[in-house]
Amino acid sequence: MKVLVAGGAGYIGSNMTFMLAQNGHEPVVYDNLSKGHRAAVKDARFVLGDLNDRHLLVKTLQEHDIEAVMHFAAFIEVGESVSEPMRYYQNNFCNTHNLLSAMEDVGVDKFVFSSTAAVYGMPDTIPITEEILKQPINPYGESKWAVERLCCFLSEADKLNYAALRYFNACGAGQNGTIGEDHSPESHLIPLIIQAAMGKREDIKIFGTDYPTDDGTCIRDYIHIDDLCKAHLLALDKLGSEKQQVYNLGNGTGYSVRQVIDTVKKVSGKDFKVTETDRRAGDPPVLTADAAKARTQLGWQTDYPELEKIVESAWKWHSENPNGYDD
Ligand code: UDP
Repeated sequence: MKVLVAGGAGYIGSNMTFMLAQNGHEPVVYDNLSKGHRAAVKDARFVLGDLNDRHLLVKTLQEHDIEAVMHFAAFIEVGESVSEPMRYYQNNFCNTHNLLSAMEDVGVDKFVFSSTAAVYGMPDTIPITEEILKQPINPYGESKWAVERLCCFLSEADKLNYAALRYFNACGAGQNGTIGEDHSPESHLIPLIIQAAMGKREDIKIFGTDYPTDDGTCIRDYIHIDDLCKAHLLALDKLGSEKQQVYNLGNGTGYSVRQVIDTVKKVSGKDFKVTETDRRAGDPPVLTADAAKARTQLGWQTDYPELEKIVESAWKWHSENPNGYDD
């Protein structure tokens, strides 16, 4: 299939682009490079463009005979979304509306959307199934949920077949540690710990040690980027026949912040300073996925459920790219 990958220069989008080409699809990356990296796109076709540029979107969809769109171009900082809600609604919702509307204009009706476990907010029941109440607690989660609702209404009006994939903690480096994670500023746990192990930051801070978990730190469901992207391929294959696909993507196994730190120490062979600090606002104690639906309905299986393997791939990429991507 000819697939437009919006945000294909970012961490998840660039991994997806590679996997699409590897599996016989023809990806076209559309990215404004505000966050992503041209070097991460490698030799895939690339269009430098903004999602608010309706004219360029329509032109790109038409010129490349695009059949389906995968959308990864979003702002992802929860804290920033709280201080700058307008920016988050503009980029994550309004620009997606623009993309969907351009697709409607040219008759592209297949869409894979990068959603998030943040749509659930502070869930009462763990592991989380897709059906529980969606109560986002920040503009980031709300902006993603608003897009899911729009997709749902469009599909009910027979205008769109879509998959909304709710990621838990995407991490690791894809394709044997060759396509990595390079955010700036970095806010995700594994790359931050790796930076501490590489001596690029003076310590790793644990945000809260008084949670009701075995070791007092938060538990998250870390999912390897290759496994995450594999689910997108499976969902893409079903877009022709399925109007609505909504899946959690996680391993179902939780690891605490301390366990992740210990794993990075083991994999890297480095010791570094760990500082215990206050809780970060809005962090639920435990978030793990019930991904049975993706396993049964998509036939999804994960290849890298062990945290150590995930960290090894991330460590490899960061060690080989100590300054991140060149451009
Ligand atoms: N975390 C931490 N120190 C950091 C960054 C993150 O203790 O420097 C914790 C954070 O509070 C959460 C977990 O690590 O419990 C994963 O955070 P991340 O931001 O990577 O992903 P999130 O779960 O927020 O999507």
